[in-house]
Amino acid sequence: MSQSLRIENLHASVDGHEILKGLTLEVPKGQVHAIMGPNGSGKSTLSKVIAGHEDYAVTGGGVFLDDINLLELEIDERSRAGFFLAFQYPHEIPGVSNANFIRAARQARLPKGQEIDAVAFYREMYAKMDELGMDRKFTARSVNEGFSGGEKKRNEILQMMMLEPKYAILDETDSGLDIDALKIVAQGVNAMRSPERGFLVITHYQRLLDYIVPDVVHVLHDGRIIHTGGKELAYELEEKGYDWIINEPVAA
Ligand code: ADP
Ligand code: MG
Repeated sequence: MSQSLRIENLHASVDGHEILKGLTLEVPKGQVHAIMGPNGSGKSTLSKVIAGHEDYAVTGGGVFLDDINLLELEIDERSRAGFFLAFQYPHEIPGVSNANFIRAARQARLPKGQEIDAVAFYREMYAKMDELGMDRKFTARSVNEGFSGGEKKRNEILQMMMLEPKYAILDETDSGLDIDALKIVAQGVNAMRSPERGFLVITHYQRLLDYIVPDVVHVLHDGRIIHTGGKELAYELEEKGYDWIINEPVAA
């Protein structure tokens, strides 16, 4: 059995336009991979397809979480199987408190008939909010409603810390964060790095990768991975841009 998040020759379209055109990538458990790529290359589309967003039609290929075919599962089943997505643009859920939202997700992971221990739940959540520098008033507020960009991004990481997924995709979690918040969020992610977990970190800027140092860096362009390298590739991209890779002859 392979212990990885494996994306195999994935094709996906939206409104009849093909966006992912044969994307292949494998994040083994225990590793952090980064995806960098120009705007519009398909990074968020990839995240949303894996999460099960209804606007996207998968037209070929597969996504496997430890050999479980994720594309056959409903959205909530994907989450319970151990997949988590921190959205580039987190959704607001009016009328549902942050605490109840996370609690319901945790409850859904327990065997039938077992109840969450509310005291332990709040103790754990407050400790994680402290780590992320989040005020406790955010437990009672509706999920992301009226949150600033940076507050939403921290809240995504709080959800991830509370759900302890096997594989997480962070879609441009750095956008909207100032440098201090970025460091705090990176610390939270780094504390979760483990031989039992894999991360796919999507970012536009090398800066995030100073704090969450990846094992592997991939370049996504026009719906395909066109180049893969080590962490030093992020610095090269920062310095030289993407054109030298986009224009390089495809290996025979
Ligand atoms: P990235 O995250 O790399 O910037 P996206 O995955 O958001 O790129 O977008 C890839 C391409 O797909 C873009 O050209 C975008 O306009 C298009 N696209 C994504 N979602 C939709 C949608 N819901 N409707 C129409 N076009 C979309
Ligand atoms: Mg995006």
